[in-house]
Amino acid sequence: MLLEATPPLERELNPWQSADARFKEAAARLGLDDGMRKILSTPAREITVHIPVQLDDGRLEVFTGYRVQHSVARGPGKGGIRFAPDVTLDEVRALASWMTWKCAVVNIPFGGAKGGVICNPSVLSQFELERITRRYTAEILDFIGPERDVPAPDMNTNEQTMAWIMDTYSMHHRTTVNAVVTGKPLDLGGSRGRPEATGRGCLIVTLQALRRLGLEPSATRVVIQGFGNVGGMAAKLMQRTGFKIICIIEVDGAVYNPKGLDVLALAEHRKETGSITGFPEGEDIDRDEALFLDCDVLLPAAKENVITSQNAGRIRAKILCEGANGPTTAVADSILAEKRVFVIPDILANAGGVTVSYFEWVQDRQGFFWNEQLVNGRLEEIMVNSFRDVVGYAEKHQVHNRTAAYMLALDRVAFAIKLRGIYA
Ligand code: NAD
Repeated sequence: MLLEATPPLERELNPWQSADARFKEAAARLGLDDGMRKILSTPAREITVHIPVQLDDGRLEVFTGYRVQHSVARGPGKGGIRFAPDVTLDEVRALASWMTWKCAVVNIPFGGAKGGVICNPSVLSQFELERITRRYTAEILDFIGPERDVPAPDMNTNEQTMAWIMDTYSMHHRTTVNAVVTGKPLDLGGSRGRPEATGRGCLIVTLQALRRLGLEPSATRVVIQGFGNVGGMAAKLMQRTGFKIICIIEVDGAVYNPKGLDVLALAEHRKETGSITGFPEGEDIDRDEALFLDCDVLLPAAKENVITSQNAGRIRAKILCEGANGPTTAVADSILAEKRVFVIPDILANAGGVTVSYFEWVQDRQGFFWNEQLVNGRLEEIMVNSFRDVVGYAEKHQVHNRTAAYMLALDRVAFAIKLRGIYA
C-alpha cells in the first residue's frame, strides 16, 4: 500500500516515516543538495534471507531475516540484530539509518546497519535459536566482517547469540575472528563495561541535562519503561547515583513508589515470581497511565512508538531521555517541544552501547584488553562531549536537540562522502 494512502496514525507509527521526517528537516536546515539527500536517505544495501531451519520436533520451518547496511561512508556498518515476531524491513531500515546517525553523533568510525529475524524466541528452544542464528549468519556471511559490518545484540538477542555468530563466521574463515561482532562474552573478546554501557550512557547524559536545567540529582524522580538490559541497568546506576526511581513499567504492569523503589530488590522479586507486579515495597498501577506520572525524568527503554501524537500532550516529565530507539514519533516531537520537555534524543541518549561496542572492536583488533575503569572513563568522555556538541549546536542554530543531533550527524556523514567522492 502506498504510504500516502495509509491512515495518518499508521503512517505516524511507521518507523521509516519518523526517521525520514527527521532526516528531511535536518537536511533542509543544512541546505544539503538533492544528490546528497538521495545518497543519505537511501540504504546502501538491503539483504533479505529466507532461512530453512529444522525444529526440535523434526518439522522444517522457513524464517525470514534481514540485514540492512544504511551507510558505510565513515567506516564499517554497525548495528544490532533483533529477533521478534513483528520485525519488518521498514523497521530494520529505520534502525539502520538511526545507527548511521548515532555513530556520527558520537563521532566513532562506523557507518550504520541493522538486522532482524522474524521469529518468536519465547516459543523456541536454545537449540532452535542456535540453528536460526547460525544459518542466518551463513546467509549474510559475505556481507559482514570486522572491516565490513559488525553486528551486535538487540531485542531478544544476547551474548550467546553473538558467540554463535562469531563461531559460525570463524569456522568459515578458518581462523578465530572475534572482531566480527560486539557484545560478546568476556571470554571470547567482549569488553568490560559493555553490558552496562547503554544504561550508563543514559545516566551520563541525564546528569548533563540535570546540570543544564539546574536540577539536583538527589531530588530527581525517574520513571522507566522497560526493565531489560537498558532500563534495568539505567535504573540500578541511577539509583546508585542518588536518583529516586519512582516507577518501573513493564509488559505485565507497573510498580510505583513515590519515595523511590529499591530496584535491586525489584529485580530479585521478578526473578523469584516472574513479574515486577506484587512487589511488597511498591504499589501496582496501570501501566498505560504510568507514562504520565509527574516526574523529572522519563526514560523509555522498551520499544518504538511509545510517545505519539495521541499521548505526548500528557507527558509531565521535564527531561525525556530516550533509552530505546525511536520511542517518540516525529509528529509527537513538536508537541513535546511546545511543552518545553528537554529531549535527549535516542541517537545521543542510547549511544553508550555502540560506543563501548566500538571499544570492544578496537580491543579485539589490538588483542589488548582494557580494565573497566578505562572503558567507563572513555565512555564518559565521549558521551559528555557528544552531549555538549548536540546541545551547543541546538543553541547556536536555534533548533531542538533532536534536530541538532540529526544536523550534526548528517553534516559529518555528508562531509565523509564528499571527501571520498563518488566511485564510478
Ligand atoms: P530488552 O529486551 O533487554 O528489554 C526490553 C524490556 O522492555 C523487556 O524487559 C520487555 O519486557 C520490556 N517491554 C517490552 N514492551 C514493553 C511495553 N509495551 N511496556 C513496558 N515494557 C515493555 O531490550 P534492550 O536491549 O533493553 O533494548 C530496549 C530498547 O533499547 C530497544 O529499543 C533497543 O533497540 C534499544 N537499545 C538497546 C541497546 C542495548 O545495548 N541493548 C542499545 C541502544 C538501544
